[in-house]
Amino acid sequence: MHDSPAGSAWSPETLAVAAGRPQRTPDAPVNAPVELTSTFVASTEPGARGYARFANPTWEALEEVLALLEDAHPAGGGGARAFASGMAAISAVVEQVPVGGLVIAPSSAYNTTLGLLDHLEATGRLRQLRVPVADTGAVVAALSGTAPGDLLWLESPTNPMLEVADLPALCAAAREAGVRTAVDNTFATPLVQQPLAVGADVVVHSVTKYLAGHSDVVMGAVVTRDPEVLAAVTKHRTVVGAIPGPFEAWLALRGVRTLHLRVERSQASAAELARRLVDHPAVTRVRHPSLPTDPGHERARSQMRGFGSVLSIEVRGGAAAAQAVQEATRLWLPATSLGGVESLIERRRRHPLEPVVVPEELLRLSVGVEDVEDLWADLLQALDAVPSAAAAGEDRGEQR
Ligand code: PLP
Repeated sequence: MHDSPAGSAWSPETLAVAAGRPQRTPDAPVNAPVELTSTFVASTEPGARGYARFANPTWEALEEVLALLEDAHPAGGGGARAFASGMAAISAVVEQVPVGGLVIAPSSAYNTTLGLLDHLEATGRLRQLRVPVADTGAVVAALSGTAPGDLLWLESPTNPMLEVADLPALCAAAREAGVRTAVDNTFATPLVQQPLAVGADVVVHSVTKYLAGHSDVVMGAVVTRDPEVLAAVTKHRTVVGAIPGPFEAWLALRGVRTLHLRVERSQASAAELARRLVDHPAVTRVRHPSLPTDPGHERARSQMRGFGSVLSIEVRGGAAAAQAVQEATRLWLPATSLGGVESLIERRRRHPLEPVVVPEELLRLSVGVEDVEDLWADLLQALDAVPSAAAAGEDRGEQR
């Protein structure tokens, strides 16, 4: 169906543009069409789609690109599967753990991933152990208590604390312990980090974020080189029905075509803003692995091509001051989510599910592709609101 550049030595940047296109035949469209159908004419051919909860050609075009970007070549038994959301993809992977099995997960990570694990633990489905993922020794020690079928769940850099896990070391330790490793690669994107290439068994994405890139789609993906895992998550998607709409898949693929351009711009701007924010008197801490003083800097340098486009800052004056900064921005949009072309700012502890290790005054900044000087100017004017906001917060006893 698709004119896959199978086996080619094209770079990820080229694959983002060139893979997942229809066959190059005279008068063929250059883009995979949106195939809006709930069923397919019956066929006895092997691989026939049959019904649209099982397969859809528009998903397949996107899946081909994601598999190649994550270095899970379909010719080698690997592949990607598109899901209705990032959480649907995460849940498809976690559901592979046997009843009563153990999931080792970060003590701080995307709050709903942790919420899912809490839910599954509370209902007796599985056990979990939370570990600080940047502490390699702690994760390796936790792995000594695992049994086959258990899972090491990693997110790196973590949301929103930007902690960096030693992916090669942790994947190797998990393999030695006989358990699979899944990595949420949403923050880095496959252009910045390829977990499968350093030993992970499964990668998940909230496609909603950088891959789709325009804050107009909710979608997820699982990518793996392991045919057994691929078959299991495909079956899960089919029986649970957590499928994306074809139009969402088409929008996501359209977004992927410019992933490299967006990531290049946004992570350069994120690093520049992080460097400037360090010196701002209203900012008590900047978290971004690009900073030489960041605890994850050296590790990120060794395993990432860049440092990602999300940074977090802590604002002098506590939660009220941080909230005031968020509300004082004019260009940065105060909204949850990340990875779109537009820059977003959010005080994360406003979410009840956010882990308590995340400081009350932490603002997460998702840097978009606007002019960096405009982004900086807007942050500066918003930070000017801090002294009054801090005083108001103290008056109301809102400081931590
Ligand atoms: N993983 C990470 C790191 C996220 O930030 C998010 C959403 O913010 C998700 C997974 C969940 O993705 P979705 O909202 O597409 O279900």
